Amino acid sequence: MGIIESMRLDGKAIYVTGAASGIGKAAATAFAEAGADVAIVDINLEGAENVAKEIAEATGSKTIAIQCDVTKKDQVEAMVAKVVDTYGKLDACYNNAGIAVNAPAEEMTFEQWQKVIDINLTGVFLCATAAGRVMLKQGYGSIINTASMSGHIVNVPQPQCAYNASKAGVSLLTKSLAVEWAKRGVRVNCISPGYIGTELIMNAEHLKPLIEQWNAMAPMGRLGKPEELQSILVYLAGDTSTFTTGSDIIVDGAFTCF
Ligand code: NAP
Repeated sequence: MGIIESMRLDGKAIYVTGAASGIGKAAATAFAEAGADVAIVDINLEGAENVAKEIAEATGSKTIAIQCDVTKKDQVEAMVAKVVDTYGKLDACYNNAGIAVNAPAEEMTFEQWQKVIDINLTGVFLCATAAGRVMLKQGYGSIINTASMSGHIVNVPQPQCAYNASKAGVSLLTKSLAVEWAKRGVRVNCISPGYIGTELIMNAEHLKPLIEQWNAMAPMGRLGKPEELQSILVYLAGDTSTFTTGSDIIVDGAFTCF
């Protein structure tokens, strides 16, 4: 089989969190286009159901929609159990749900801090370990997490210390799990996107001045598109990346290079 054929995901079962919109939706679409059956997981059930329907119609993937708050251990475990019940296995997962809160550190409330850490870091820990327990038993699996370039640099001008800390945490959590599970068939990687122009970001009037500043700082002079993350995610989920584990792949149009 040639390299391109080997990259396909036919017959694989994959869940994606935060899949009702943005990067998660683009990832789920790409996995399905590559042949996988995809569980669309989100706190927003209606959004997840719409995306599951859209992807099934466009690709023939056997999609399911699952409501899950990634900060709740019981909901995460039930979500993984439902995926395994439905498809009989879990080949790969993309732990992607995340939020950003901008506030000066000295004014950030404990609740703001905790919400960001709970969703972005604890949520990835709960999902990755629940998926990992299934995959370790199977003896195979690929876990992908969404970190961010904000785990590598301090973004300006917006103050976002909780977000930056949570994403740096995702990066080292990813590497820690990769080392622990390396000899047991389970790979763990993350991607670190630069600014990505999701619908939410592009349609937010209050972000327009900020986007202009980000573009002025960006070597390519523009935001990335969710579709520009799809191929790396398909690669990480599939069988041509078997020596890739513990990697944090920065996809940022060179934003963090200087
Ligand atoms: P998005 O469009 O807001 O999508 C995030 C999705 O996650 C939403 O559907 C959201 O639902 C859901 N969600 C929020 N809290 C959740 C929870 N507790 N449990 C389950 N789902 C939850 O965001 P995005 O821009 O695609 O970002 C996706 C990931 O990429 C995040 O981890 C983000 O930090 C990261 N990232 C984004 C960028 C960027 O520039 N866009 C750059 C680097 C990294 P609701 O809408 O109902 O809250």
